[in-house]
Amino acid sequence: MNSRRRFLQKMAITAAGLPLLRFQSLAGNFRRDEPVLRVAMMGLGGYANRVADAMKACTKAKIVGAISGTPTKLSDWQQRFGIPVKNCYNYENFDQIKHNPDIDVVYITTPNALHHSQVLRVAAAGKHVICEKPMALNAKEGQEMVDACRKAGVQLLVGYRMHFEPKTLAITEMRKRNEFGKIMFFQGQCGFRIGDPTQWRLNKELAGGGSIMDIGIYAINGARYMVGEEPVWITAQEIKTDPVKFKPGVDETIQFQMGFPSGAIASCLSTYNMNYLDRFYLNGEKGFAELQPSTGYGPIKGRTNQGELTQPHVTHQTVQMEEMADILLRGKKPAIPVDGAEGVRDLKIIDAIYAAVRSGKREML
Ligand code: NAD
Repeated sequence: MNSRRRFLQKMAITAAGLPLLRFQSLAGNFRRDEPVLRVAMMGLGGYANRVADAMKACTKAKIVGAISGTPTKLSDWQQRFGIPVKNCYNYENFDQIKHNPDIDVVYITTPNALHHSQVLRVAAAGKHVICEKPMALNAKEGQEMVDACRKAGVQLLVGYRMHFEPKTLAITEMRKRNEFGKIMFFQGQCGFRIGDPTQWRLNKELAGGGSIMDIGIYAINGARYMVGEEPVWITAQEIKTDPVKFKPGVDETIQFQMGFPSGAIASCLSTYNMNYLDRFYLNGEKGFAELQPSTGYGPIKGRTNQGELTQPHVTHQTVQMEEMADILLRGKKPAIPVDGAEGVRDLKIIDAIYAAVRSGKREML
C-alpha cells in the first residue's frame, strides 16, 4: 500500500473510529462538531509542563494521558489535568498504549538522546508522534524515525513552534511575495547562558552535543524558512572558554556560515555563554526584516523596511497544538512544514556543522 493511501486510511480510521463518548467526555473549550486531538505527554519535565499548561486554552487538542518514570509526577498530572489512571504509563510499559483507543498521539519531551528509540516504540504502537527538537542526534537516526513512522502508517511531527508564530509567518509571506527582492543575507543569533553544570543538556550522552543541538538549531531552522532555500555548503568554527563546564563533544559556542543555491549567505551564532542573544535579520535587494526576540517564548517583536510588525502575541504552544490537531486529524498543510522530513533537514545541517568544526573546511550538503 502506498504511503498516501496508508495516511488516508489512518485518518479515516481515526475519524470513523471516534466514539461519541469522545465528545461527551470532553467538556469546556471543545467544539462538539469535530474530533479533538487526544494527547499523551512523555517526559514530564519543564517543557512538558509548559505545553500542557498552554493546552488548557486549546479548543482542538487536549491532554488525556501521561508517560513518566516518576509515579509522583503521574499522580500530580492526574490531578492537574484530569487524566484517568488507565491513560498513565511508565517507560517500561508504554508500548501498551497500542491497546488504548483514547490516545491519538504521544508528544515526546524527553532528553534528545531518547527521542529516537521512543519514537520507534510509539510508532510500533500505532500512535502518531510529536517529537521535540532536535528530533534526534543525527540525520541517520532522524531518517530511521521517519521511515519507521511511514512503515507504521502514523504521522511524525516535530515541535517547531515558531512555524506557527504570526510575525514569523508574516515575514515568510512577504518574502514569498518578493517584497524584500532577491534575498542576499540572513543572520541568526541564538543563545543563552546555561546554568547547572550537572544538567542533561551538558551531558554528551543525553544531549548529543551542546548549544547547537539545543538553541543553535533555531538559527539553522530559521535560516531555512527565512531565506526559503536549503543550504548547499557549511563552514563552522567552535570557541570554548570553559572546558570544565563544556566537556569534549559539548559545544559552548559555534559560529557557522551557510551558502544557498541562489547565492544568498547566512552567518549564525549559537552559544550557551551569552544571554539576550535572540535575533534574526534578513536582507534582500529591496528590503529587510528583523525579529528580536526571534525565537523565545515571546512576545516576538519585529519590523521590516515597511514598518513595525503588529500581529498580536500568541502563546506559541497553544497555537502549535491547535494547528497540529488540524494537521494530524484533518490533513491540513502548514505554511512551513513540521514533519519528520523537516527535522531530518536540520539534522543534516547539524551533522555538517560538527563535521566542518572538525575538518576546518567547507562541507558540502
Ligand atoms: P527537562 O529536563 O525539564 O525534562 C526532561 C524530562 O525527561 C524530565 O521529566 C525527566 O525526568 C525525563 N527523563 C526521562 N528519562 C530521562 C533520562 N534518562 N535522563 C534524564 N531525564 C529523563 O528538559 P526540557 O527542557 O523539558 O527538554 C525536553 C526536550 O524538549 C528536549 O529535547 C528539548 O530540546 C525540548 N525543548 C523544546 C523547547 C521548545 O521551545 N520547543 C523548549 C524546551 C525544551
